[in-house]
Amino acid sequence: MEKATQKGKVIKMALKVLKFGGSSLADAEQFRKVAQIIKSEPERRYIVASAPGKRRAGDIKVTDLLYKCYELATNDQDITEIFNEIKSRYNDIISDLGIDLDLNDIFEKIHMSMLHNSGRDYIASRGEYVNALILAKYLGFSFIDAKKVIFFNEDGTFNAEKTNEILAECLSGHQYAVIPGFYGSMPNGTIKTFTRGGSDITGSIVARAARATVYENWTDVSGFLMADPRCINNPKVISTITYKELRELSYMGATVLHEEAIFPVRYAKIPINIRNTNAPDDKGTMIVYTTDEVGPDVITGIAGKTGFSTVMIEKDMMNSELGIGRRVLQVIEENGISFEHFPSGIDTMTVVVSTKDLHQKRADIMSGICKSVNPDNISVEENLALIAIVGRGMIKAKGTAARIFTALANASVNIRMIDQGSCELNIIVGVDSNDYLTALRAIYEEFVK
Ligand code: ASP
Repeated sequence: MEKATQKGKVIKMALKVLKFGGSSLADAEQFRKVAQIIKSEPERRYIVASAPGKRRAGDIKVTDLLYKCYELATNDQDITEIFNEIKSRYNDIISDLGIDLDLNDIFEKIHMSMLHNSGRDYIASRGEYVNALILAKYLGFSFIDAKKVIFFNEDGTFNAEKTNEILAECLSGHQYAVIPGFYGSMPNGTIKTFTRGGSDITGSIVARAARATVYENWTDVSGFLMADPRCINNPKVISTITYKELRELSYMGATVLHEEAIFPVRYAKIPINIRNTNAPDDKGTMIVYTTDEVGPDVITGIAGKTGFSTVMIEKDMMNSELGIGRRVLQVIEENGISFEHFPSGIDTMTVVVSTKDLHQKRADIMSGICKSVNPDNISVEENLALIAIVGRGMIKAKGTAARIFTALANASVNIRMIDQGSCELNIIVGVDSNDYLTALRAIYEEFVK
């Protein structure tokens, strides 16, 4: 939203889109925290809601209960018990919050649609639909059904432009509104969901259409961590990260946000702020398009994965043979495998692929490469772990690679592969899977003060 000043200068008025995940809306107590957060700033205007998530360890998300109902109903089994559980999740929230809202007709409609084998996506989507209705009522905001503003194409892909146009128009008619996450509609009007965790995507789409100044994604952690807490004890929170860095880290397995949620806001240059509903004073992580600001540490984060293999091809005078790289990759492609990295030497080249993929196609790939490039030798090694050290701070800092290699050498870890993107945003090292944790910890210790 823009406003012209008296001098004709256009200033952007703050407008925030907030998405609350399932754990933030799991019960009445969480609803109260959410309402307090929203009401504390008038610019927090458009809210995207998930279905109720887990209230405690071992609890079941409403979306999972809905999928279970769908499965039982399609196998002609009784859904009464699970359906009642879903109803009471919502009714408990309503009665505890003291809201005057009768959902009986809606529950009846959902129940009937389950019994009549309505689509799986329609049933799953009701989790966010009902939760958003309750939240809208509790906040006194308008309710906008996602099926009227989020659209998919015939082939199931998201229709970004139609959505943006219609959603922007619709939002302009509401000062404050709640929109259910996770779903939209197909050209024939039936409901389709995004993949699991898709309310993040809805939030991003709404932020773009509203031309928000920021997309706040409220969850149960205080931001994106510098490393996986299952591997590193109490890792630091990243205060600012660029979209590019996030992409690198997410690709290697670090997650907080649905991968596809980045795109709508990234192109609109809207920052995402990951926040914690249970610790609202924490500043969280700011994900920005670009920044000159470099944090106290040279690196922004570390992520890694195990389960890779290398296929190494050796051939004398390889470097002068035209088209050899293309032919090797063509064999990989024809076997339906995507390669992760492709480091090469003078007379060698190595293709790094997932071990799981390779196992199914190993014989075909080996014979395909032999036929296609006639190598002197071809060998496969398994048990490779890849670690990505990511950071815009590396671009100008000298000696980063040296610090990584020294840290690994001091921890007695042998490096099996090195790959540095020419954008200097990341360095990837391959180590034996058995050394994975030791390597991660050694690198973290070296860089994070
Ligand atoms: N409720 C959906 C899921 O559990 C979508 C979401 O929470 O983002 O995947």
